[in-house]
Amino acid sequence: MRAPRILVTGGAGFIGSHTCVALIAAGYLPVVLDTLVNSDARSLQRVACITGVEPVLVCGDVRDALALDRVFAAYDVSAVVHLAGLKAVGESVVDPVSYYDVNLAGTLALVQAMDRAGVRTLVFSSSATVYGDSQPSPIAESAPYAAVNPYGRTKAMVESLLADLARADARWGIACLRYFNPIGAHESGLLGERPHGPPNNLMPYITQVAAGQRECLVVHGADYDTIDGTGVRDYVHVMDVAEGHVAALRHAARRPGILMANLGTGRGASVLEVVSAFERAMRRPLALRIGPRRPGDAPAYWADARGAWQAFGWRARRDLDQMCADSWRWQAANPHGFDDPAPAHASGLPRFQDNTSTSINSKPGHSHA
Ligand code: NAD
Ligand code: UDP
Repeated sequence: MRAPRILVTGGAGFIGSHTCVALIAAGYLPVVLDTLVNSDARSLQRVACITGVEPVLVCGDVRDALALDRVFAAYDVSAVVHLAGLKAVGESVVDPVSYYDVNLAGTLALVQAMDRAGVRTLVFSSSATVYGDSQPSPIAESAPYAAVNPYGRTKAMVESLLADLARADARWGIACLRYFNPIGAHESGLLGERPHGPPNNLMPYITQVAAGQRECLVVHGADYDTIDGTGVRDYVHVMDVAEGHVAALRHAARRPGILMANLGTGRGASVLEVVSAFERAMRRPLALRIGPRRPGDAPAYWADARGAWQAFGWRARRDLDQMCADSWRWQAANPHGFDDPAPAHASGLPRFQDNTSTSINSKPGHSHA
């Protein structure tokens, strides 16, 4: 029997490419739709180095209805994992319209195309930002929506759209996964995070300081009411997150309705605890200085992670030391990201390509920059 094909929007990105690895390991064939606005097609070659299967890449925009129809017509897709979107909180404050366009209108175009194609199983990349910054931790899925920026509001609106859809039409099975702070890299060192431009987030900043590409980490505040004064987050390994998509997909395919699930470890770690774990991984100290608080930062939050376990048997298995060890292995082996050639031993795997990569753009120039 042929492996079921899964459309992975945004599948060339950080979480998407790791999700492709997990899907292939679970016996699925990913078909990626991505504009590559914040990613690199070579991530999918690295997926092939790890798994022996190179996902099809369709260069196209999730807002483009005709492109979506062509993808569904060309590939016998049985479900969709929807990760395509814009994700920088600060940028969403400055340019909210682009965020509503890509994240909200993009999801609307996607579910309309899915409906036309008769594909009604969907896993959606949501975010802990839907909770805002004032909920007591651990935060359970029952906490109210209280996003404090346009990015978070686009995620909350998409969840509401999908909830209304699932209520109206019992043929849909939908899982919204609220990620906390995904970090780490594939344990092979072949696949990891390579942000375009200076990193906003803690882990890519740490890895670039460790690699000598930036002078020192600036810790954004050490006067919070936390274990050591620095901000606390629920860091979760990106491969655990990737495997969470597979478990949620199986659940959504079997059970009509909608499910909201946190993907976190249920434990918080401070900035200095992350730095210590990273120093253990690279066996030397990391240059840092304490700076002022970052405007808009919440002091501390972490997930109540029991819901995903109860609903679809997923829980995070990898700890902070492994997250840091894997991040460092990726950075050390690929200081220039995907510009570095994959190690020779990785290319020896037999490769299977589902089909040729292609471009399905009905509106040239429509892609977001
Ligand atoms: P990423 O930027 O690496 O991946 C997003 C992908 O979507 C990129 O490959 C980008 O090129 C693509 N894309 C953007 N606009 C598109 C469009 N209009 N059409 C098609 N493709 C488009 O980010 P990521 O960290 O892998 O995040 C994936 C998803 O997870 C996003 O929806 C993000 O909001 C969500 N999320 C991420 C985090 C995190 O910390 N990384 C946390 C919570 C939620
Ligand atoms: N942080 C920091 N220095 C940096 C980037 C982040 O001290 O260069 C801190 C930040 O203040 C927060 C934690 O690291 O307490 C996680 O920040 P990140 O931006 O990765 O995630 P988010 O705040 O969006 O959850």
